[in-house]
Amino acid sequence: MSTEHTAKRRRRQSDERGPENRGAYEKGDLWFDDGNVVLVAEGTAFCVHRGVLSSKSDIFRDMFSIPQPLDEETYEGHSVVHLADLKADVYHMLAALYNGREYYHYRKRLPFNVVSALLQMGTKYEIDDLRSEGISRLRTHLPNNLCPTFHHSFESPPNVWDNTIELSAAHIIAVINLARKLDLHDLLPVAFYFCANLPTDIILDGYKDSHGTHWKLSSEDLKRCFNGRLMLQLHGWDQYRVVLRGVPSPFCDGGTQCRNALATKGRSVWTSVSPTNVDALRPLDFLGHWGLCKPCKLHFNQEREHVFNELPSIFQLEDIVSDVWPGAFLYMS
Ligand SMILES: [Zn+2]
Repeated sequence: MSTEHTAKRRRRQSDERGPENRGAYEKGDLWFDDGNVVLVAEGTAFCVHRGVLSSKSDIFRDMFSIPQPLDEETYEGHSVVHLADLKADVYHMLAALYNGREYYHYRKRLPFNVVSALLQMGTKYEIDDLRSEGISRLRTHLPNNLCPTFHHSFESPPNVWDNTIELSAAHIIAVINLARKLDLHDLLPVAFYFCANLPTDIILDGYKDSHGTHWKLSSEDLKRCFNGRLMLQLHGWDQYRVVLRGVPSPFCDGGTQCRNALATKGRSVWTSVSPTNVDALRPLDFLGHWGLCKPCKLHFNQEREHVFNELPSIFQLEDIVSDVWPGAFLYMS
């Protein structure tokens, strides 16, 4: 049978099954002429292949295996499946499946809305590759240890090229909501730490993304954030009090140099410290300029390690992160 006859027969079958073009859809950027199913999201249609989606997602495989009624909707001869997702999220899911290099290359920095799409669609449709890619990129910005440049890490992580996301500070509001929604609870303590360091207006107003989604913290999470901010201020102050006390580490091997430095320079801390400092995990870099020995530098940075370990408690997250919180590793050069 010729291709033309086959096409006519297909059209007849589709006409017999149900109305063609029940909806007036806009064709999306992914439209394969040899596709065999049309996904529709927010009025945009994508013609793709059942086999490709089924091979990556049991959810799609099960969806496609359900017998369709005789009056099923078709579009250009193909079955239509409506998805209750943003069309942009559907596009990125499909584009990642068909053109993975654009999404999985570790040197390609992805916009936040793309990572959000990979995480949400990967979780909803159980596509492990998408979800794993999104998690890996979030972890680059939210490390689960106290690396030397930790305080730079959310917007500008230490390794600025690998597995990164285009971020602004306010994205942390969306990250907290995604971590809750997608059960990525081990990201929450560090995410709340960065959130607590934001200006109050941003914390209260949230973040509106380019698709119109307004990400805001729940009232419970707002309480967590502001209560935690107060705790961080107290911890930050404790860190400097240890320096002001001027007693070298019990393991000090710097002798009089450390004692003299602490005695002569320690009081200068008064002039450089704000009692409202929230960035309690920032390394005390000035100690390096004082010529202190390594045991002393470790000694005076121990409060940071303590604060990092206490983040779940500081933000009242113990119930959901107790099993997934690894604890700090204090690095010191
Ligand atoms: Zn010392």
